[in-house]
Amino acid sequence: MAEAGGIDGPKWYAETTVAAPERAPLVQDADVDVCVIGGGLAGLTVAREIVRAGWSVVVLEAKKIAWNASGRNAGFVAPGFSERIENIIERVGLSRAKQLWALSADGVEYVRATIRETGMPGVTAADGRLIVLRRNAEDELLRHVAMMRVDFGARLDAWPTEQVREVLRSERYFQAVHLPGAFRIHPRNYALGLAAAAEQAGARIFEDTPALAMDSAGVRKRVDTPKGRVRAGHVVLAGGAHLGSVFRAVSETLLPVSSYMAVTAPLGEALGDAVRYRGSVSDTRRGGDYYRIVDGDRLLWGSGISTRISAPRGLAGSIERDIRDVYPQLGAVKIDHAWSGLMSYAVHKMPLIGEVMPGVWVTGAFGGHGINTTAMAGDVIASAIVAGDDRWRLFSAYELVWTGGAWGRAAAQILFWARRLQDAVAEGLAQRRDTARRRAVQQAAHEAAERERRATEAVQRRAAEEAARAAAEESAERFAAAQRNAAERAHQAAVQAKQPRRIADTVAAHKVELLRAARAAGGGGGGEADLGNEAGHGFETAPAGSEEKPAAPRQLSKSRRKAKRT
Ligand SMILES: Cc1cc2nc3c(=O)[nH]c(=O)nc-3n(C[C@H](O)[C@H](O)[C@H](O)COP(=O)(O)OP(=O)(O)OC[C@H]3O[C@@H](n4cnc5c(N)ncnc54)[C@H](O)[C@@H]3O)c2cc1C
Repeated sequence: MAEAGGIDGPKWYAETTVAAPERAPLVQDADVDVCVIGGGLAGLTVAREIVRAGWSVVVLEAKKIAWNASGRNAGFVAPGFSERIENIIERVGLSRAKQLWALSADGVEYVRATIRETGMPGVTAADGRLIVLRRNAEDELLRHVAMMRVDFGARLDAWPTEQVREVLRSERYFQAVHLPGAFRIHPRNYALGLAAAAEQAGARIFEDTPALAMDSAGVRKRVDTPKGRVRAGHVVLAGGAHLGSVFRAVSETLLPVSSYMAVTAPLGEALGDAVRYRGSVSDTRRGGDYYRIVDGDRLLWGSGISTRISAPRGLAGSIERDIRDVYPQLGAVKIDHAWSGLMSYAVHKMPLIGEVMPGVWVTGAFGGHGINTTAMAGDVIASAIVAGDDRWRLFSAYELVWTGGAWGRAAAQILFWARRLQDAVAEGLAQRRDTARRRAVQQAAHEAAERERRATEAVQRRAAEEAARAAAEESAERFAAAQRNAAERAHQAAVQAKQPRRIADTVAAHKVELLRAARAAGGGGGGEADLGNEAGHGFETAPAGSEEKPAAPRQLSKSRRKAKRT
């Protein structure tokens, strides 16, 4: 893991940076229209715009082009400022706030157009930004979105919690503002592309050339560097947090603030499952998290701010914990690179843009919202210098305010901690409410499921009883039918059985007649007893209630009577 903060910048950016020329230091005096101090996004944009207007420009860079914040930031490009829009309205009124917002949106378009026009390599803009809440504040969010749409004509939508959690699988998040027109870039390649475009237009850029002192008294200003002096009609101070002693009236109004970033090792498919949104993401806490996916399956993650200038020990571990807190499903992610970067803030959190004394201009204090605002400021200051454009006066409410030196930095840090604490308390309460709400929802769902289960069971029980009753009735019917059939069959069998017996009886009666006739004729035989047995056997098998009338006894008594008569 590389924890670089030095001149070559963070290793991950170095690995993905396009080839850039080495630029020599200034070794002789130069006479130009404009001298720009600082080779970050602010200085490079103003230099490009001035030279495009046909003026001569030199850029003095103490180290390398975009070695600091401009070349190691997260690359989110969106309208707005570090200061909240509600606070801007409160300070300058709605009408002026609208103009400032429009300028910040112009900065976004400037970056987009510059990438397109110059065909910058390795910048790869990708669309969309989500600004997520870590507390449940739907009403507040809806009011904000409505105001931004109606009063500022901004392109943004409010996303409900479910929609947010659909694309960012984290229970830390609630609602979000979606900015479809925002985009993200590789900031270092963008800065190098700007430098190349400025040089192509005629600007001269000197690296390893710190501006050490300035004489701003005359019409022609003088800027001293270790090996050469620049004389210029205008000087633009674009040194950010590192401006130093060259112009104390400005540098003492800039509060240096660090932010921290890291790139993880490849995280495979798990990352795509957890973070389904392909734009950039940030939360609304002070010094909160901001991140995006890079190289397909790595996370570029930033978080935290501090007035401490160097990177703290254990930076990688602390960013790893931040990631785990939001996406525990990723497990312990490995951090491949981590670094810090230094921004500058003014006390009022708005950029310092304007003329601080005749011929001396400042463009700085962009805070964590510097890509669009450096672009806008470069354009505004260049056209002020070359064409007398006075749009910079829109920022006059945000003048130079002393930051209080070392005490001011300490106070700012304490204020930041206090606000982080407020955020943490608000977030903790929101999480607790969310947990309680989810438990209540689960409980209600459980009770509803229980009710449904009981109702289903009752229906099933009734259906089973019904089926059993129907089956019983059916089997009783079947039984009765079977009985009827059996009786019918028995009856038919009996009827059939009677037919041959009657014949037999008739035969027997004939036999009796014959016997009697034989006896009468003087023959022997079985007598009365034989006749009774044979005839009795035939009657006993008749079914109860049968309408068949026994014939044999009648015939027998007839034959007896006949026998008696004879
Ligand atoms: C970690 C991090 C993440 C960020 N993410 C974003 C983001 O996603 N989106 C966004 O909009 N903003 C972001 N920012 C803010 C943004 O990067 C800055 O606001 C912006 O780059 C400031 O540009 P700059 O030119 O004013 O300053 P810098 O980039 O600091 O450039 C100033 C240059 O001036 C030079 N210099 C200073 N003094 C002298 C001198 N006396 N002589 C010669 N040269 C001098 C320095 O060496 C330096 O190169 C982020 C910042 C950081 C630190």
